[in-house]
Amino acid sequence: MAPDLQAAAGKVVSVNPATGEILGEFACGSADEVRAALARARRAQPAWFELGCRRRTALLRNFQRLLAQRKTDVARLITRETGKPWVEALTTELAVVLDAARFYIENACRLLRDEPLAHGNVAMKQKVGRILREPCGVVAIVSPWNYPFSIPATQALAALVAGNAVILKPSEFTSLVALELKDLLDRAGIPGDVFQAMPGDRATGAALVSSEIDKLIFTGSVSTGKAIAQAAATRLLPVILELGGKDPMLVLEDADIEVASSGAVWGAFVNAGQACLSVERCYVQHNVCDRFVEACVRKAGKLRVGNGMDPETDVGPMIHERQLHIVEQHVEDARERGARLMTGGSRLAGLGANFYAPTVLADVNHAMRIMREETFGPVLPIMSFGDEEEGLALANDSEYGLSASIWTGDRARGERLARRIAAGSVLINDAVCSFGISEAPHGGIKASGIGRTHGRFGLQEMVRLKYVAAERLPRMKKMWWYGYNQSFARWMEAFLDVQFARSTKRRVEAALQSLEYFLRAGSRRL
Ligand code: NAD
Repeated sequence: MAPDLQAAAGKVVSVNPATGEILGEFACGSADEVRAALARARRAQPAWFELGCRRRTALLRNFQRLLAQRKTDVARLITRETGKPWVEALTTELAVVLDAARFYIENACRLLRDEPLAHGNVAMKQKVGRILREPCGVVAIVSPWNYPFSIPATQALAALVAGNAVILKPSEFTSLVALELKDLLDRAGIPGDVFQAMPGDRATGAALVSSEIDKLIFTGSVSTGKAIAQAAATRLLPVILELGGKDPMLVLEDADIEVASSGAVWGAFVNAGQACLSVERCYVQHNVCDRFVEACVRKAGKLRVGNGMDPETDVGPMIHERQLHIVEQHVEDARERGARLMTGGSRLAGLGANFYAPTVLADVNHAMRIMREETFGPVLPIMSFGDEEEGLALANDSEYGLSASIWTGDRARGERLARRIAAGSVLINDAVCSFGISEAPHGGIKASGIGRTHGRFGLQEMVRLKYVAAERLPRMKKMWWYGYNQSFARWMEAFLDVQFARSTKRRVEAALQSLEYFLRAGSRRL
């Protein structure tokens, strides 16, 4: 079914991309329903926060246990609604969420507690400072279809454990998985109004963005991200934007080609290439390039494409035909401009409408759309480079900056190059999996977005910092209050010299002057 039909007439329709079977239909949340959901969330949030971190993490533990019990059913539901192999649903969705829950259960209360703040400024030493971490209030999550469970669930767990209420607007293509997440959180004991899921289309998303929510976590395409940033700017709504990527893979001549080629094939074809962190551009040092291409072609040819419910399937269908059409256009453009098609390059119509063969292209260059725009499909475009500097320049020549990978036998070399890559994360001798490392911050630079989710930095985004300072000597007037005069100015000069003058002699002299002025000027405070 065409995506436009999927969102027709105020409803969204969930379709199995492998078979075309309709799995469910859902009315789109209207602007009024968004407002009502927000009012419920707003009412429920203070009590949720007052419950305290320990009780909230206990509920997260319930959720984790339930999810561990229901993992097979949840993974199969993800496969039915997205097409991805259910083995992959287990590794890239279930495992990620279970471990994210582990991270918050183990760390949230420590990371969220009040923190004493020491003051280095001598004039402020008599204050006792403290950092408080308060929930934002109601956090909205607007999410995509490609990881319909792990993206919203990891974000929701962080928001919830920090004491926020959450409203999730899932992708129009994956309402069922979102409702499953809602069911799991309900059963775990999270109050119904504290976590709400509202199926809907982009209009539902837009209504949520323009409502009085306190924070937005948006994951999706760059174009939608830009529209959302503009809408958010009208009322300075704080947003996290997790947007698209065009991740480079840099294979150096000292890499293990057998391992790197397996990594490239998995990194490019996982989730049929529909992963924000997937390998979208592959650069291989000249003298190992032929060997690398040959290995990738051989391994891509062995991949079994089919219905993801079959445990032997490596690559499932794409989400819908519109996405497949983008892939076709990119491959066609590359071939017209001189790329060599090494394998794949066509639909697998015998399997169904949304299947595309794992494709390897060689001799690509940066004039081709496939090296500039996000393809989001099962294509591995490979380009050779001469020296390290050229490889780095190619990797950084992109409007995106989500993540990158470097493949080398020399870890120190990899780490040195990683510092020069323009991306939010860099893996050395692996790709994609940083999303599954619960401690690691996830997010990009340049067009790939703003802000971070996951780990302690993601948790930090779910709170407002408040600084509170109290006087140790509340009965003392402050020196900088009114009572300005010549001797105050002299005292201030001496006081600054005590701290910042270059010569020790001047600092000692200034200390004596400062004391003298302090005693004289102190009595003249207003
Ligand atoms: P999309 O931008 O079309 O839609 C994402 C979500 O935004 C959907 O829920 C949609 O209904 C909603 N939406 C659309 N227009 C809206 C508007 N004007 N206001 C509010 N909400 C609106 O993206 P998609 O096709 O679902 O997902 C694929 C994209 O997501 C790819 O570009 C991919 O790279 C990116 N992505 C990024 C990350 C990351 O972490 N950086 C992760 C996964 C996917």
